[in-house]
Amino acid sequence: MTVRRLVLASDNAGKLREFQALFAPLGIELVRQGELGVTPAEEPFGTFVENALAKARHAARETGLPALADDSGLCVDALGGAPGVHSARFAGGHDDAANNALLLRKLEGAESRSAHYSCLLVAVRAADDPEPLIAEGVWAGEVARSAAGEGGFGYDPYFYLPEEGRTAAELSAEEKNRLSHRGKALRIMAELLARRWGWGD
Ligand code: IMP
Repeated sequence: MTVRRLVLASDNAGKLREFQALFAPLGIELVRQGELGVTPAEEPFGTFVENALAKARHAARETGLPALADDSGLCVDALGGAPGVHSARFAGGHDDAANNALLLRKLEGAESRSAHYSCLLVAVRAADDPEPLIAEGVWAGEVARSAAGEGGFGYDPYFYLPEEGRTAAELSAEEKNRLSHRGKALRIMAELLARRWGWGD
């Protein structure tokens, strides 16, 4: 099988591990953009897809290699989809505890606590690729009133899954990968890479 290199437009080691597990069987070697000297792109847009596309194009432009980017976040119905693209810095900084505290405060007295995680993956063969591959994964749940579980990250201790009777932070890594927005988007992207680019032959 031909081994192909794909630049990951993120320097998050956890994401690299999750993505690599799924792409290795297709003969895809993922390389973090930081390893190739690429500095992170701006994420100025109001939608996941625009931010992911901007990140993928930037990584491809800087490296001359095909690139994969993701953008994700928590969208809460009673808040009109917020924090959405602002999930990482909802309370102003990269602070999960502050983000969760703000989320609970904003939902005080709300009738609905329904929410979903969304993950948008974009792959481009080159910076000016006119046909980016786009995969979306969504994971529905509710914002709990109190935290439970030690796993995951970000909003996971408050992301309650009615069918499981647990929060996302109470799932094992394998369970989360099977159910999560990111796991779903990754499986769709792996299928697109094989079908549209012929990767995995
Ligand atoms: P990004 O995809 O790294 O830009 O993540 C955006 C933000 O969305 C993260 O910093 C978290 O606050 C939130 N988020 C995305 N996916 C998850 C998840 O699986 N669990 C918890 N929080 C998440």
